[in-house]
Amino acid sequence: MPLETDVPQLQRRLLEWFDAAKRDLPWRRDRDPYRVWVSEIMLQQTRVTAALPYYERFMARFPSIKALAEAPEADLLAHWAGLGYYYRARNLQRAAQQVSAAGGFPRTHQAILALSGVGDYTAAAIASICFSLPHAVLDGNVYRVLSRLANDPTEISSTAGKRVFGEVAAKLLNPDRPGDHNQALMELGATVCLPRNPQCLLCPLAAFCEARAAGTQDQLPRKRRVPKIVREERTLFWVERGNHLLLWQRPAGSQLMPGFWELPEAEQLDGLSGTSELGSFRHGITFHDYLFRIVTAAPPADTGVAAWVNIGTLDGLPLSTVAKKAVTLVERSVKRGAATL
Ligand code: SF4
Repeated sequence: MPLETDVPQLQRRLLEWFDAAKRDLPWRRDRDPYRVWVSEIMLQQTRVTAALPYYERFMARFPSIKALAEAPEADLLAHWAGLGYYYRARNLQRAAQQVSAAGGFPRTHQAILALSGVGDYTAAAIASICFSLPHAVLDGNVYRVLSRLANDPTEISSTAGKRVFGEVAAKLLNPDRPGDHNQALMELGATVCLPRNPQCLLCPLAAFCEARAAGTQDQLPRKRRVPKIVREERTLFWVERGNHLLLWQRPAGSQLMPGFWELPEAEQLDGLSGTSELGSFRHGITFHDYLFRIVTAAPPADTGVAAWVNIGTLDGLPLSTVAKKAVTLVERSVKRGAATL
């Protein structure tokens, strides 16, 4: 759904609000690309208030790109400790070395994007904030604000969502002050247009907001629902007699892996009781995370749906992945005691 609004007026209102309400953050005190860049990388997975002390310490120890490029890795990681995602620190240093070798910070969006660890979001942020280049920034906060402004239920993480909201962001971008405009939208999302309970009464864009007009702001943005992973423990019986192993074969009409052979569970051999555990392994199937325990049991009088299979012929049988993992684990455990795959 395209956003129909008076764009210049919206841009004006947004910047008036930002000029008056913006938080005083250390990386906003000048437009130095190094300072902005470090802050953007730190803020990728960390909230502003949590990142602040790390940022101050980091900049005190590595006050320039050169200092960062030449720092021993242990020192670098020590100053990143607590922020996690250490690959970000390593990428920062790699990029600092690229910048040092090139003799200065790149000044085009394309060249900024080529730095180690810099993606679309960071490149657009640095290009617009430090060099006033007209690139719209899209982060989680901005997606939320835009989906509400346009009252558009397209899933923000979908390909269509990235395209739709990318277009809305480009349409709204203020070419005169792109850096401030981007920061203003991010700030609005972080402080007013909150995920839950957006503060519409305080919002400078309330008059332009189509979700507020429709009363749908609490239902947006639409996100893909990620099903929960279900954890489950299951017991597989390892029943040997002579050179034979007890297995059962899935019927030809089975919905799941017809014709494949499995180790029996209680469902196939009711009344079996385990004597000792040979080992365990995990196996994921769609949204299930199974922990399979393999337990030995004495041969039953009645094998039910199961059948004795010569162990020497297992290689030629269509074994399910679970059964294959179990056989591998038992072979290993026989060689060196209990094992976990
Ligand atoms: S009016 Fe409400 S929903 Fe719309 S942008 Fe402002 S805070 Fe967000």
